[in-house]
Amino acid sequence: MALLDVENLKMYYKILRGEVKAVDDVSFEVIAKESLGLAGESGCGKTSVALTLLKLLPWNAKIKGGTIRLTGEDITRMSDSELREKIRWKRISMIFQGAMNALHPTYTVGHQITECILKHENVTKDEALERATKLIELVGMEPERVQRYPHELSGGMKQRAVTAMALACNPDLVIADEPTTALDVIVQAQVLEVMKDLRHRLGVSMLVISHDLALIAETCDKIGIMYAGKIVENGDVKYIFKEPLHPYTTKLVSAFPSVIGPKTELSSIHGFPPDLLKPPPGCRFHPRCEHAMDVCRQKEPPLIQVSNRLVACHLHGGKEA
Ligand code: SF4
Repeated sequence: MALLDVENLKMYYKILRGEVKAVDDVSFEVIAKESLGLAGESGCGKTSVALTLLKLLPWNAKIKGGTIRLTGEDITRMSDSELREKIRWKRISMIFQGAMNALHPTYTVGHQITECILKHENVTKDEALERATKLIELVGMEPERVQRYPHELSGGMKQRAVTAMALACNPDLVIADEPTTALDVIVQAQVLEVMKDLRHRLGVSMLVISHDLALIAETCDKIGIMYAGKIVENGDVKYIFKEPLHPYTTKLVSAFPSVIGPKTELSSIHGFPPDLLKPPPGCRFHPRCEHAMDVCRQKEPPLIQVSNRLVACHLHGGKEA
């Protein structure tokens, strides 16, 4: 059984002009001890998926359909207090975007991790502090840093501290939303090493949200490519990077330099993702796709199995496995 099984999930934001279909019929699964990356341009719904999984949604957002099963139990049916007691931090935790601002400036790192443990587990303050210190060591910092305030830490250390906090209650799944975005390349590489090391040592599953394909290639087993609120290709990282099938994935992959392959000219994707208040009919990528056919403008391509992955594209409609 999958650890996390998301099926036909829909989450819309209501605004004055109508409904923004931010997550529209999204399905994927995360297997225990595996890591899935969600990639795509900004505004394609990646962070909205993450926030929907924990129901950390603003007042104008509504789950319109679908299920989110964590080892078989449907999270969408749980009340906020059930989620607080049973799921958030204990089973699914999250590393939020922008570690620089994720820590409270007037409390020490140790205090913030300890508070998280005390809120969710029946342990003493000393036991919680001992675990916080071990977590700080686990993410590669000296144990003394537990007594430091955020302003006394570098950007990379803050990122490690929020990673330690996400691990505070031994969750089954950690969602990392753009975990390296605000960091320089050297610190990004260090944080990446920490994430890879933790995955192997603790066996924790991860859902990594990023527009950075290199980060996903380094940290994930599988990748789901999101475009305009939908998953358009989903499969093993090694197959999708080697031979992308969906035209959007091809464009995304060719927009990133390859570190190991021969030097190739990088291309950009012309145009912008559509307005999700009124997405285009048929395939949502058709206004930007150089392979668009008449059928693409009329009929939405279903996500189907094509050789070793799932793809939603009429070009591959006849090649079902
Ligand atoms: Fe392009 Fe058509 Fe495939 Fe959409 S369905 S990606 S428009 S070929």
